[in-house]
Amino acid sequence: MLGNLKGLLVTLGVIRRKHVTAQYPDPKKRLSIDERFMGFPALLWDYSNDEHFCTGCMVCVRACPTQCMSGEMIDNPRHADGTSRRRKIVDWFEINLNRCIVCAICVDVCNFDAIEMSHEHELSKYERNGARADLGQLLEMGKKFQADTGWKPTQPEKNTGSPEAVEKMKEAARAESEAKKPEPVAVGKTEARKEESE
Ligand code: SF4
Ligand code: SF4
Repeated sequence: MLGNLKGLLVTLGVIRRKHVTAQYPDPKKRLSIDERFMGFPALLWDYSNDEHFCTGCMVCVRACPTQCMSGEMIDNPRHADGTSRRRKIVDWFEINLNRCIVCAICVDVCNFDAIEMSHEHELSKYERNGARADLGQLLEMGKKFQADTGWKPTQPEKNTGSPEAVEKMKEAARAESEAKKPEPVAVGKTEARKEESE
């Protein structure tokens, strides 16, 4: 009897606590996703030049431990007309998300700021090949991630596609380093200091 009462008191105490779980999949009861949460990988969009960050270099494809990625690069026509710094650009890309183990190796090896672990995690399908995400789907996931998190490239000077935007960044960096330089000491003042010390 006493044991039952003790148990009831514990239950009553727990009821008053803030909920840390939610009933899936009711959208109204969803808990917000933490920024560091790692969902499926997604491709990112270079808004400075309206094109993919991805050059289709295939480094991630070779590094993926489950070999669930594939893709191909082409010569970037916009590089030829001088409107993009990217010589090559992705032509098509696919990730079989059913086989992805969300290890983030593809993100770590990408040197072009082109891929990130998005917050997308609800892509279960009934079909065996239903979770194959193509370039358009991966980009949609990436754009949502960019908008939700205010994502910025880690190496903007290297990876921004717009030649004008990069020139502006370089000018700003030059101006900043100029501003940090110490003022040159006038010759007259130097001599005066020498005399003072003697
Ligand atoms: S997260 Fe890992 S398994 Fe998934 S696509 Fe990237 S490298 Fe492959
Ligand atoms: S995501 Fe990065 S590593 Fe993968 S193909 Fe594109 S540029 Fe290369």
